[in-house]
Amino acid sequence: MKHGNLLTVLILIGLAAGCVYGQFVLFGSMGDDPDAHWTKQAGDLILIRPLFLLIIPLVFVSVVVGMTSIGDPSKLGLIGSSTVLYYLVTMLIAVTIGAILVTSFRPGDLSDEAAAKLRGDAQVEYDASDIKGNIEEAADRGQDRLGGAWMNILRQMVPRNIFDEMAKGRTLGVIMFAILFGLALAAGGDATKPVIRLFEGLFAAVMKLVLWVIWLTPAGVFLLVAWTVGKVGFGELVGPLSKYIAVVLTGLAIHGFIVLPLILLLFTRKNPYRYMFQMRRALMTAFGTDSSAATLPVTLESAQGEGGCSKRAANFVLPLGATVNMDGTALYEAVAVVFLFQLWGIDLSFTELLIVIITATLAAVGAAGIPSAGTITMVIVILAVNQGLQGRGFAQSELLPTAAIGVIIGVDRIVDMCRTTVNVWGDAVGAKIITKLAPDPEQDLEAP
Ligand code: ASP
Repeated sequence: MKHGNLLTVLILIGLAAGCVYGQFVLFGSMGDDPDAHWTKQAGDLILIRPLFLLIIPLVFVSVVVGMTSIGDPSKLGLIGSSTVLYYLVTMLIAVTIGAILVTSFRPGDLSDEAAAKLRGDAQVEYDASDIKGNIEEAADRGQDRLGGAWMNILRQMVPRNIFDEMAKGRTLGVIMFAILFGLALAAGGDATKPVIRLFEGLFAAVMKLVLWVIWLTPAGVFLLVAWTVGKVGFGELVGPLSKYIAVVLTGLAIHGFIVLPLILLLFTRKNPYRYMFQMRRALMTAFGTDSSAATLPVTLESAQGEGGCSKRAANFVLPLGATVNMDGTALYEAVAVVFLFQLWGIDLSFTELLIVIITATLAAVGAAGIPSAGTITMVIVILAVNQGLQGRGFAQSELLPTAAIGVIIGVDRIVDMCRTTVNVWGDAVGAKIITKLAPDPEQDLEAP
């Protein structure tokens, strides 16, 4: 068996065994603090930490190499604008699918008793959750609603101290600096050529590290999936939240299996499902880790290896995409927020739905590629809709409380696995499309 195939089989076994072990051995026996469970601790050590260790060096070096290989600045403008346009259009499509599904199937219309129970438990779940602090921080930052959220993204894009950004793991600032630095190297002529060579060598070395770390995925995925399933249990899939979960998963399936493949087909005229298969290891890693940032090393490796993407396109589209392009998260945020409003008996008008569509896209851009990030930035959407409702004469006490997020926190991990997979798939499709615009020189020669 070829190495790549062996790895795929091992990851699949890890996923399946994790589900079985989680459901039949761990479920119900994890104690009061599931985060302290050995499966989570070991999964962190074996997979998440090594992957995170690679992110900052990889992002910096890969974006610099991508930039220097683009060379021609006018081409960069075309690639940059097409990439941003692709991110925006696909996220807006995703969020619209979510909004249409959630308003058509109304998962929040439950029996009075079931709804009252969920609402009653929300505060307790919210207070007990480990992301409560982050949600409140995000709410404070977004105090002046949209303005605050935008300013936060802009500030990250214009950092003051690149080492501080690197130390804090904030990739957006690192990417911006790497783009400029790469451009400067490309423009530097003979004087900077040795540095470009150095970066190419560094990139090759970091990718070697990635190849080694990828062999940890089967074990890591087993542990993390076992932990997730052990914590939530498949039973939740048939509880009162089942309709909500089904709506999110249906939306993700429509976007991932129909919309994105169609877009890819349109631009490349190649079989999109074949490409999906070529990206399988990245998709499975996303599913297992709940983190597009942690998956980035694997995504880059698969895209440039089996996926056939150019270095120019992949090294630019994927690192940036892992940070800002989140189709799955955008779709999920729209569904979750409208669901919560339904559960609280608040009907949203068309204008408020538009607010959801715009702010959910923005909140997804602002979400980091880590577990539950979308559930934290969702508060921006809730605050914006509440503000719209106040304009319609709603009193403060009639608005949706932030603690309503507590309703969905318990099942978030399962939903997160699926939306993260769609996030990474969206980035991969973008890299393939941009490869058409910016093939590597050797690919230029291969093209008929
Ligand atoms: N976990 C997601 C990601 O890493 C973000 C989120 O929706 O929570 O892409």
